[in-house]
Amino acid sequence: DIVDFNKFFDRIIDRFEMSKSKNVEFQRHISDIPCYVELDTDKITQVIDNIISNALKYSPDGGNIRFGVTAQEGILKVMISDDGMGIPKENVERIFDRFYRVDRARARSMGGTGLGLAISREMIHAHGGKIWAESEEGNGTTIFFTLPYELDEAGEWD
Ligand code: ATP
Ligand code: MG
Repeated sequence: DIVDFNKFFDRIIDRFEMSKSKNVEFQRHISDIPCYVELDTDKITQVIDNIISNALKYSPDGGNIRFGVTAQEGILKVMISDDGMGIPKENVERIFDRFYRVDRARARSMGGTGLGLAISREMIHAHGGKIWAESEEGNGTTIFFTLPYELDEAGEWD
């Protein structure tokens, strides 16, 4: 499907904002200007759902989750950032491995299987994008992913 990514992303965030049970504030930095991307909406919805669920799961009460999208030179960059417990530096790369969870005791109490980000990585790679994390223990986590988009000089679609 070809979708306006900004609108698509905004709707997913709306769904989480309406149903969230935690006192976490959402801050959006998303342009109103349409940015058309060809993607498998079901799969990318699953990717974004997992990243937001993680951000909520590891956010403290009263925390903030920031959402951002930038589009530059045919690459869309999406950012989802929380100020939760973070991930120790030596483990940041591994969160995209299958079944990997930072702290077994903590993970068990939080539920889940440790597959969410591994599946997300597969789906982003299948779309020709990249996904990575920046995190500091005790200071929050930011997940970034990119998706390529095609734009001709007139900014129109074929
Ligand atoms: P599942 O997604 O299958 O329900 P999960 O959330 O534990 O389980 P992933 O989404 O793959 O699995 O995340 C892997 C691990 O990375 C998590 O268990 C957690 O330890 C860590 N992690 C992911 N996102 C965050 C975050 N925003 N803050 C802190 N730790 C995180
Ligand atoms: Mg998860």
